[in-house]
Amino acid sequence: MLFDRDGTLVVDVPYNGDPAAVRPMPGAADALARVRAAGVPVGVVSNQSGVARGLLDVAQVAAVNARVEELLGPFAVWRWCPHGAEDGCPCRKPAPGMVLDAAAALGVAPGDVAVVGDIAADVGAADAAGARAVLVPTPATRREEIDDARTRGRLADDLLGAVTLLGFGDGQFGGRQFGGRQFGGEE
Ligand SMILES: [Mg+2]
Ligand SMILES: [Zn+2]
Repeated sequence: MLFDRDGTLVVDVPYNGDPAAVRPMPGAADALARVRAAGVPVGVVSNQSGVARGLLDVAQVAAVNARVEELLGPFAVWRWCPHGAEDGCPCRKPAPGMVLDAAAALGVAPGDVAVVGDIAADVGAADAAGARAVLVPTPATRREEIDDARTRGRLADDLLGAVTLLGFGDGQFGGRQFGGRQFGGEE
């Protein structure tokens, strides 16, 4: 299961390069724990266009990612895109590159992956990759994106709601509804 970083796992601080400013979103630790407890690997896919815009350097992104890992990790895979919207790269969400690449790194088919994020780019990357998607809106999420996700049954109020929708609810048998595939056991 892949998560967007800013506005999903941690509070969005635009172009944050300061590890001390990292704050988990409500329910993030519990949601991740449920998924991990079912033996399903969790990862992060994050756009960091601040690098392309000269607002962040790679070391700052790495430092913030390390802090996220400290607070909410471990994550089985990390992928982040340093490019800007005009670069036409294959990785910046809503392009599917990071989702496909993370799935390959985990050794799972894209159709057995879910992406949880807070904006249309996250959902779009999942769709483009053939993965499942759940939108967990923040006040920054556009109204029509929320309405669309609700219509398509992939809207959750928070991260616990998102993992519940994906089959990792309290008391659910984790993984049974997750792409019809059971995880855990062998590696
Ligand atoms: Mg986000
Ligand atoms: Zn990119």
